[in-house]
Amino acid sequence: MERRELELYIHIPFCVKKCNYCDFLSFGTEDERLSDTLCHPTRQLPVPEVYVDRLCREIRWYGQKEEFSHRPVISVFFGGGTPSLLSEAQIFRLMAELRDNFLMLRDAEVTMEANPGTLTPGKLKQMRFCGINRLSLGLQSTVERELKALGRIHSYGAFLQSFKWAREAGFKNINVDLMTALPEQTMSSYLKSLEQTAALKPEHISAYSLIIEPGTPFEAMEARGELALPDEDEEREMYHLTRKFLSEMGYERYEISNYARPGYECRHNIGYWRGRDYLGLGLGASSFIDGCRFSNRTEIKDYLALTMGSGDWYEAVETLTPAAKMEEFMFLGLRLVRGVSEKDFYRKFGVKVMSVYGEVIRKNELEKLLIRKNGWLRLTELGMDLANRVMADFIL
Ligand code: SF4
Repeated sequence: MERRELELYIHIPFCVKKCNYCDFLSFGTEDERLSDTLCHPTRQLPVPEVYVDRLCREIRWYGQKEEFSHRPVISVFFGGGTPSLLSEAQIFRLMAELRDNFLMLRDAEVTMEANPGTLTPGKLKQMRFCGINRLSLGLQSTVERELKALGRIHSYGAFLQSFKWAREAGFKNINVDLMTALPEQTMSSYLKSLEQTAALKPEHISAYSLIIEPGTPFEAMEARGELALPDEDEEREMYHLTRKFLSEMGYERYEISNYARPGYECRHNIGYWRGRDYLGLGLGASSFIDGCRFSNRTEIKDYLALTMGSGDWYEAVETLTPAAKMEEFMFLGLRLVRGVSEKDFYRKFGVKVMSVYGEVIRKNELEKLLIRKNGWLRLTELGMDLANRVMADFIL
């Protein structure tokens, strides 16, 4: 029987310090939720050490289940948090457990998110040695005052150093994350970030807009009128500038916010946008397997205390209805520049996409937001700009 491919996501929830805009499930070293866990019996060990131990147990638990361990793993993504805060020994241990318990393909894409200021030449060499073949560096901006406003721990100089070390360690596939719509950011300061980043020739660049998330320091600052954010028009201009500039530099946009040199599109994320099954391991990690979504507990104390005997680390399990699966397939697939294949839709759901979404598709075609051609449905340039509006039409 053919085994369906699987992607793995590994969550590492530790950071040096929390950034001002961040609402991810991560803890700065000073976070009191970490010191709370000192009441745990293994208090003699640092929390990340205990965490890696639990993570290994979780990996082994899945490794004993044939429905997971026999599926070819095409990608692994260490996200966070700041996974590059792990020690060389911890990285080695996690990679060894993954290899021992899953059917990792020889050419699997293995990405680790990393922040400048947490890397050394030795650690980068160890990552390569362990099989990590893609590095995703969080730069965000090359302008010092913008980095400071974001609360990042690094300078542009520290990023340059890390980038150089990564190349020397043999990384041939590097992503650099940039951000738009930052406080005090102007078109010219953003262009500078783009130019300086592209000059280094990374294989992949992501450029996401800042979103002010509830509960972050930025939310409070915005409420007090302390954040000078670019307006919506400037934000759109930055988006168009990204596309134009990066395409001139040889990067192709393949998803709303992601650009790559040919052949370097992120396989892991493409799988996610195309609805491939993924298994999330670690604190709060979510999974999507055979149309069922489930996620791990989000309290670090609970996660560390689990014995991993019975799978009781799930917090939420949701089986998607056929309609919800179709919606998700369309929402995610339309983010990709190539769009959604009508054949794939039929293969997945046993009905033609036109019989479910015919009216919506025709309406968006008329409004020049969507194109239907050669068995594919994709957003136009205008459709990409108004993606949220188009997606809303696909809710059944
Ligand atoms: S480094 Fe990343 S995960 Fe950590 S606080 Fe900053 S934005 Fe959040």
